[in-house]
Amino acid sequence: MPDWSAYRGVLVYIEHREGIAKKVGWQLLGQGKRLADKLEVEVMALVIGHNVGQLAEEAITYGADRVFLVDAPELKDYRTYPYSRASMKVIHEVKPEIVLFGATATGRDLAGAIATHLPTGLTADTTELDVEPHPSRLLQASRPAFSEKMMATILCKQYRPQMATARAGVFEALPKDPSRKGEIVQIDFQIQESEIAAKVLDFIQDQSKINLEEAEIIVAGGRGLGGPEPFKMLQELADALGGVVGASRAAVDAGWIKHEHQVGQTGYTVRPKLYFAIGISGAVQHTVGMQNSDLIIAINRDPDAPIFKVAHYGIVGDLFQIVPAITEEVRSR
Ligand code: FAD
Repeated sequence: MPDWSAYRGVLVYIEHREGIAKKVGWQLLGQGKRLADKLEVEVMALVIGHNVGQLAEEAITYGADRVFLVDAPELKDYRTYPYSRASMKVIHEVKPEIVLFGATATGRDLAGAIATHLPTGLTADTTELDVEPHPSRLLQASRPAFSEKMMATILCKQYRPQMATARAGVFEALPKDPSRKGEIVQIDFQIQESEIAAKVLDFIQDQSKINLEEAEIIVAGGRGLGGPEPFKMLQELADALGGVVGASRAAVDAGWIKHEHQVGQTGYTVRPKLYFAIGISGAVQHTVGMQNSDLIIAINRDPDAPIFKVAHYGIVGDLFQIVPAITEEVRSR
């Protein structure tokens, strides 16, 4: 095994849009800290953007011991080339042994670009991250494989840093602690706009898209709804609570609702404050995607449905009577 002793520490990329962090960055800082504690090293954050100093401070409150801040006008909007250049500069200077990114569209793009240039390996879309402590210090990055039928654990033995993207919602963020102390290191980075082929002309928000991963309240429905029409009833409850609608794969496969609503092994992994599972039996491929929700309320007419094993509260009965009653009660408050 080569001597990798120059590489130490866990570095986490903090993704944001206009200075607002995506939750996955804080979740990975939490997991990064758990890995760093095992390896007896520090956990560090990488913040790239323009006028994003407050994000660097926020990263400390979520557990970063040191934050590397790359701030330049050319980095205002995410673009692969300048962001990967900035990331590689930090990686070359800091030499972390592990680098983690959210498995978001941006995280996948950035991590892939960096991995090809360094060069090192990249384990994409992981759902479990652990480390073998001294002497190997290997990252054990696991992800579903073979059409999600088994878990594969992937090791990067020949290169450093070891890199992975990880799904949002899988890991728990540390509680925000404004009293936590850490260091912010400004990285000197220069790039000419003329060097960057891609230009951002405008951002057009797709209002129709839902964001399950960032949602605090999810009202999810399954095959028990019997068709697409009753999802309107779920939308009404979600609207009354300020949440979004989720779904089981059975409902998605039946064509009742779009895949972007699917929760579970082949959908999104979510960690909302409140999760309603309505007419969902609780197959393991579904529960793996929602069992870390803070509060789970299941509504099912079958008292033996497995969903009640992961639910904090269970209501046994007909969803067509119960859901409108809850919506009415919420609206009256
Ligand atoms: P069902 O299992 O049919 O359950 C319907 C429930 O509704 C029942 O419990 C029933 O009692 C209840 N019900 C019916 N009528 C009423 C009523 N009027 N009032 C109250 N309750 C009622 N599934 C996912 O969800 N997400 C995934 O990402 C996913 N990935 C998968 C990946 C693989 C490789 C495989 C093999 C499967 C995957 N699945 C996934 C499918 C999963 O195994 C289940 O088939 C699916 O979750 C079942 O969906 P459901 O609970 O909506 O339907």
